[in-house]
Amino acid sequence: MSQNSEPAPSVLYVVGTPIGHLGDLSPRAESLLAKASIIACEDTRYSGKLLKRIEAKGHRISFHKHNFRSRIPKLINLLEEGKSIAIISDAGLPGICDPGQELVAEARKNNHQVICIPGPCAATTALVSSGLPSSQFCFEGFLPPKGKHRRKRLKSIALEERTTIIYESPHRLIQLLKELHELCDECRPIQVAKELTKVHEEQIGHNLKLVLQHFLDNKPQGEFTLVLGGYKNNSEPLTDKKQLKSELNKLIRDGLSPTEAAKKLAEEIGESKRVLYSLIHEENKVSNND
Ligand code: SAM
Repeated sequence: MSQNSEPAPSVLYVVGTPIGHLGDLSPRAESLLAKASIIACEDTRYSGKLLKRIEAKGHRISFHKHNFRSRIPKLINLLEEGKSIAIISDAGLPGICDPGQELVAEARKNNHQVICIPGPCAATTALVSSGLPSSQFCFEGFLPPKGKHRRKRLKSIALEERTTIIYESPHRLIQLLKELHELCDECRPIQVAKELTKVHEEQIGHNLKLVLQHFLDNKPQGEFTLVLGGYKNNSEPLTDKKQLKSELNKLIRDGLSPTEAAKKLAEEIGESKRVLYSLIHEENKVSNND
């Protein structure tokens, strides 16, 4: 489809907008937003600045995490009436930790065409800037703020062999780094991308120990995306795996959590706590499959 025929009637456009640098709005996104009949914005006031700059004329409708359910039928009706709709979030790609996915699903269910006008995304921008393996990766978005669901996700991240990308707010960053430091080897590679595409863009690396220390010394301010290297079981083969497992089980029976047991035994015998922790996990997997 040529750019001149966009926007087409009854099409939903998912439009990527900058994550900082306004120059990152693509000419195609700018042209589409300038002409779309309806623009669904996560925050109409916030996006108002961008839309005013490009002289967008379309009617603006707020579409955020508190009202998206009631807005979806209205937007589908507008598509049915032949309107072209662009959806944007405050930054980056709609649908990536921002509203959008449910609207796209509903539009598809109703046989409307959906076209993405690609643009910046903090996750992929951080990944390719990190230097960590990028041919296979996981995106975790924001972790649950607390409780057992958070713990479960953290444990699975600790054993994930692919590079993992995590979003985090500045006031929770140190807590997250502490938890990762506790569950992973402290030499595990990590790059924290700060303020991507902005004036104070910075990369903080190279491993969990150094990065945690950096943020204990420098209060986190700005926007952050973490890129954590995958788990590698490259330790020497354990000669007496069975004995270690039995020591770990004993500590757990005595009331320690698996993490505490791995930590305690690691300190006693000078083995990596990550390796010991994965032994417990291995054990559990075997017993769950029994
Ligand atoms: N839809 C967005 C995208 O495509 O990346 C993500 C929105 S999510 C609500 C916001 C989170 O993305 C922030 O808390 C931060 O973790 C990450 N983020 C957004 N902009 C960033 C930037 N310029 N630098 C680093 N991380 C950023």
